[in-house]
Amino acid sequence: MNASGASWVPGARSAGGEGKSEGFGLANLPMGAWSGEGRGARLGARIGDSILDLHRCVESGVLARLDRRIQDALAKPVLNDYLGLGSTAWAQARAELQRLLGETCGELRDAAVAKDALLPAWGITMRLPCDIGDYTDFYASIHHATNVGSMFRPTNPLMPNWKHLPVGYHGRASTVVASGAAVRRPMGQTVQADDGPPSLTACRLLDYELELGAVVGGQANEIGQRVGVAEAAQRIFGHVLLNDWSARDLQKWEYQPLGPFTAKNFITSISPWIVTSEALAPYRVPMPARGEGDPQPLEYLRWDDDFLLDVRLEVAISSAPMRERGVPAMVVSRSRGTDLWWSMNQMLAHHTVSGCRMRPGDLLGSGTISGAGEDERGCLLELTWRGTKPITLPDGTERKFLQDGDEVILRGWAVRDGLPKLSFGECRGIVLPVA
Ligand code: CA
Repeated sequence: MNASGASWVPGARSAGGEGKSEGFGLANLPMGAWSGEGRGARLGARIGDSILDLHRCVESGVLARLDRRIQDALAKPVLNDYLGLGSTAWAQARAELQRLLGETCGELRDAAVAKDALLPAWGITMRLPCDIGDYTDFYASIHHATNVGSMFRPTNPLMPNWKHLPVGYHGRASTVVASGAAVRRPMGQTVQADDGPPSLTACRLLDYELELGAVVGGQANEIGQRVGVAEAAQRIFGHVLLNDWSARDLQKWEYQPLGPFTAKNFITSISPWIVTSEALAPYRVPMPARGEGDPQPLEYLRWDDDFLLDVRLEVAISSAPMRERGVPAMVVSRSRGTDLWWSMNQMLAHHTVSGCRMRPGDLLGSGTISGAGEDERGCLLELTWRGTKPITLPDGTERKFLQDGDEVILRGWAVRDGLPKLSFGECRGIVLPVA
């Protein structure tokens, strides 16, 4: 990056970005896919108030200093080819984009293509950044696992395996959507009594889950080949916000013994901009030491340089009447990436301990991120304690779980003293009635 981190692009003239584009300066430069302005699906980088059309940049020769294979990958409609190139190529491309967008560089700024390659960030539609081949969701926040566990097993909230391995389940890649896609309330089997009988109803206990997602890149490992915890850090291209929408009443009836099924497969939303691992490197915090009496992880999950990301997270909710009256969404909880017990690197290493193949574009979810405080609980099940402590929205209505018309907004910023904030943007979804 140029010394000051400043760019000539409006909204990014300081390293951290400013105004509506705070957190989208040259220090961030997240990548994603978009369409609009008469252009079909293509890749872009967010810089200040603008989106840089990477397809147009390749086509016009602006990126000619990059290897041909990097240029070809950046001209595709999704990031998968680029993800597959690996961390050396990612670093080369990022350095070149930062050079071209730096305030002292006139190569792109003064080129005829500049007007055409930079478009206002608000006029376009963000898409899923990559084709997601597989999606796995973990359960890595000890506060979340302890809170939820204690509702069902008050004397024994954590299962014996929890501190030994990152617990997860295989999610449904086909129903992962980009922020803004509608969230249709699902139908499913629900019961009045614990042992049934069930009936087919609309979900009554619809919930969100505040999570971080990790997008896997690098060359796919062969089946049977494990990815070590240090190598895993090289295979994670970047991070997004992730909302694992959950149907609690469906979940309660169906989850034993194989885990959630239809309660989790109707939709999962992610924020569209991938904040890269390289941008996030200065925001890493060493993994906290395990407490006295806590087991040390097995050798394959240990790495001296392992880290968590200091991402400040929040959930806001607005009802349809609030939006009609212009009342801002109410922030209902805040938590941090450092509230996790397992790192994303450990999750990826454990995922492949059996030899499971991980391909570019695979998605990992952290699990609901909750902190220790009562206002740091990352889903309504915890925040309202199974509906026994409803929250009140500014329109005077109570929420135990989500109602039709509610919008849930996840937001996140990487934060460190002396460094610019990096924005993850938002992950939004409005609940629609059952079809
Ligand atoms: Ca989850």
